[in-house]
Amino acid sequence: PADKEKSSSVAKIKVVVRKRPLNKKELAKNEEDIIETYANSLTVHETKLKVDLTQYLEKHEFVFDAVLNEEVTNDEVYRETVEPIVPIIFERTKATCFAYGQTGSGKTYTMKPLPLKASRDILRLMHHTYRNQGFQLFVSFFEIYGGKLYDLLNERKKLCMREDGKQQVCIVGLQEYRVADVENIKELIERGSATRSTGTTGANEESSRSHAILQLAIKRSVDGNESKPPRLVGKLSFIDLAGSERGADTTDNDKQTRIEGAEINKSLLALKECIRALDNDQGHIPFRGSKLTEVLRDSFVGNSRTVMISCISPSSGSCEHTLNTLRYADRVK
Ligand code: ADP
Ligand code: MG
Repeated sequence: PADKEKSSSVAKIKVVVRKRPLNKKELAKNEEDIIETYANSLTVHETKLKVDLTQYLEKHEFVFDAVLNEEVTNDEVYRETVEPIVPIIFERTKATCFAYGQTGSGKTYTMKPLPLKASRDILRLMHHTYRNQGFQLFVSFFEIYGGKLYDLLNERKKLCMREDGKQQVCIVGLQEYRVADVENIKELIERGSATRSTGTTGANEESSRSHAILQLAIKRSVDGNESKPPRLVGKLSFIDLAGSERGADTTDNDKQTRIEGAEINKSLLALKECIRALDNDQGHIPFRGSKLTEVLRDSFVGNSRTVMISCISPSSGSCEHTLNTLRYADRVK
């Protein structure tokens, strides 16, 4: 009963917005900060033109579970988003943390430190609270690019997915590393991130078109018997999503770009529907809509938790993308 109370006190879905500071490029172009933040709400000040070309301001207000302004550190982001979820991973819960937003809005900056901080807490719980109870921590890291899966911890080897009919997702051949300490996991995160961004062509170009998925799995040996394969207890997934603006690449001149754009668009729409279904405790979860949601299928059923971090640029030049991101987040909430 005590366990139940602990897990139900963590919201099923939490939607957080993170605003980054204006960068040098934006400052050089004299772009203005158009995002005003409050405790858990924000206002976008959009400049519009009338037919006679005079300007007028339109305000858009949004309310979320939390709004993190440009002064908030990565440590504070962790405390607000993932830290409360870590203990319930030991109680058969699957949890997922997404970073959503246009390219350059701060998704990777926000997401990259989170698995390391979470592992530190997970290992601490294993060594203290759950001492000698046979828990083990595993990490895997892969990406979805153009609807296909690639292992970021195994030279970008192409992977395929299999369903086992028991609501478990199996990615055939995915490397899973057992981690014993923080240094271990740090090295794996660095390796996987480097593999992602150094794809085939331009570094940023590539990563903005792929979803990167890092999973921390907690397993437990059966009856303390280390020779038998351990059983999955809980899972924490960190998803650095493709740039949300890429979903609009469906009219590009390049055919490959169009195909990728369509896949990204499909996956972000399916993701929104799956999260909404989770909140409504709907029986039917539309995860078949895309590779991303199929892969995450076991995290959308049962006792699961979702945190969505919507990253936004403060600049006037990004106003349209920012409004799109906030509207998406608003629909998920
Ligand atoms: P994305 O992954 O969404 O394309 P990045 O995370 O790569 O964007 O961020 C773009 C740039 O902005 C990077 O140089 C990053 O270091 C910087 N940046 C992002 N968020 C912040 C922040 N909150 N504070 C300071 N710099 C940031
Ligand atoms: Mg990125």
